[in-house]
Amino acid sequence: MILTRWLEFDTRIGDVIDITEKVAATVQESGLQAGIAVVFVPGATAAVTTIEHEPGLVDDIKAAIERIAPEQNEYAHDQKWGDGNGHSHIRASLIGPSLTVPFQNGQLMLGTWQQIVFLELDNGPRDRRVVVQILGE
Ligand code: ZN
Repeated sequence: MILTRWLEFDTRIGDVIDITEKVAATVQESGLQAGIAVVFVPGATAAVTTIEHEPGLVDDIKAAIERIAPEQNEYAHDQKWGDGNGHSHIRASLIGPSLTVPFQNGQLMLGTWQQIVFLELDNGPRDRRVVVQILGE
């Protein structure tokens, strides 16, 4: 069986949003015992990953992302399109748009301090949709 649900929320620049409970609720809704939950953002300037969602690490991941693809660097994308978010695209590509989490007994098999997070990497606020697809039995 496959269940598909959309999470919808507004974001601000730099948001790191814990969506673990919403993904867990989708697994619960499915009534499935075992399988995988796929979380995917259709968009080229946002990402999904896991982290311990505490304020220190949220600051740390933002700082690391800034070191890897600095906002002030020159990007060919910006020269071609002028939308100023070349850094956003590179950050999103490197972190990735999706995550697969197995579940058993209806529970996501995450570590105790491991949360599923959505990262807003674009250079302005956005209305976001994230698809959660549950596959299992
Ligand atoms: Zn762009």
